Amino acid sequence: MNTLSKKVVATTFDVSRVRQDFPALDQDVNGYSLVYFDNGATSQKPLSVIQAISAFYTGYNANIHRGVHHLSQLATNAYEEARQAVADWINAPKATEVIFTSGTTAGINLVAQSWGRHYLKPGDEIVLSAMEHHGNIVPWQMVCQEKGAKLRIIPMNDQGELILEEAEKIIGSRTRMLALSHVSNALGTINPVAEIIAMARKQGALVLLDGAQAVPHFRIDVQQLDCDFYAFSAHKMLGSTGTGVLWAKEQLLNELPPWQGGGDMIESVSFEKTTYNVAPFRFEAGTPHIAGALALHAAINYYRALNQHELEAHEASLLQYASQCLLSIPGLRIIGNARHKVPVISFVLEGLHPYDVGFILDKYGIAVRTGHHCAQPVMDFFKIPGTIRASLAFYNTTAEIERLKEVLLIAKRMLS
Ligand code: PLP
Repeated sequence: MNTLSKKVVATTFDVSRVRQDFPALDQDVNGYSLVYFDNGATSQKPLSVIQAISAFYTGYNANIHRGVHHLSQLATNAYEEARQAVADWINAPKATEVIFTSGTTAGINLVAQSWGRHYLKPGDEIVLSAMEHHGNIVPWQMVCQEKGAKLRIIPMNDQGELILEEAEKIIGSRTRMLALSHVSNALGTINPVAEIIAMARKQGALVLLDGAQAVPHFRIDVQQLDCDFYAFSAHKMLGSTGTGVLWAKEQLLNELPPWQGGGDMIESVSFEKTTYNVAPFRFEAGTPHIAGALALHAAINYYRALNQHELEAHEASLLQYASQCLLSIPGLRIIGNARHKVPVISFVLEGLHPYDVGFILDKYGIAVRTGHHCAQPVMDFFKIPGTIRASLAFYNTTAEIERLKEVLLIAKRMLS
């Protein structure tokens, strides 16, 4: 054990046991054991999630809601049980407040198109922050352009923390919606959402939280958060791609017009007139990703079987260890040093392009992400073309962090 690891608080989380549940972690890439540090993009999947998908397709594959036959009823029941499981997981008052989407992006677009197109007027303002993912910028920009509304941006400081005094000035009587990332994907910052939501509430504005990077790391309680919409993706929290959730307060869902039209979202259709189904079904046009919903249910069960307290302690110790380890590399600068962070470390190496570093890391079996991470305004703020991002999950280890450091030193020698 080196001196760095002595400073890190020992945790009781049994990471070697947990890793056995993730078959994809146990492989060689380019002749080296895989180190998977691209969890912010998508997480690996435990066997139980993979088996849930397989069980659906091998056992009871059928379309939902419309069939009277046995398999359709099994599939419908499983899909609606998944909805209830999501509601329980995020402490939603009702399962009918949970809309299955294809991901965070789809959830935010749904709100922007349904709520925004219906309610926004010229001069209205949507408040975002300086650290949003493009998925929480572009949908608002599109609807603002159409409706003559404006975007206002809460700035951040050099640590990658939002400036609350500025937020107080920006959130005002014209604010109709505060759309904020719970956790920044590019910086790892956990935003002080309670304080900022309170500002929006004072002005009577609605609140949407982009929870894409929060759900893999800590438990969400939508009632305690006091938001109106919470969007997240299943694939970043052990589930499959193509599935996500938009939670919304019941009253809002009942008032909002549907966005996409099609099967399953209607009550009756004639060529003269269509009437719509109740929420959440009228926001789920067409055949949904049924297997994805079942996989999300399995992912939630997997999280439930872990000790959340131990998981968070393990992730905190990984963050601390990785920060110390990487900062001991000459010329390495961490971008985003907020006091409250998830284990995401974005960094640059003086004189080296992130892409070149990422390329060499891959040659040694280390998967990181390089570039702007769909957060170009963050890169502009720090005046850099991009970063190297190591985004860790609870199944990562300190030994993997040491490998990252070792290979970064090799990359530096090769590229300098
Ligand atoms: N918001 C944040 C903060 C993200 O990190 C991401 C994806 O990385 C998204 C939104 C978009 O998620 P998806 O591509 O799953 O819709």
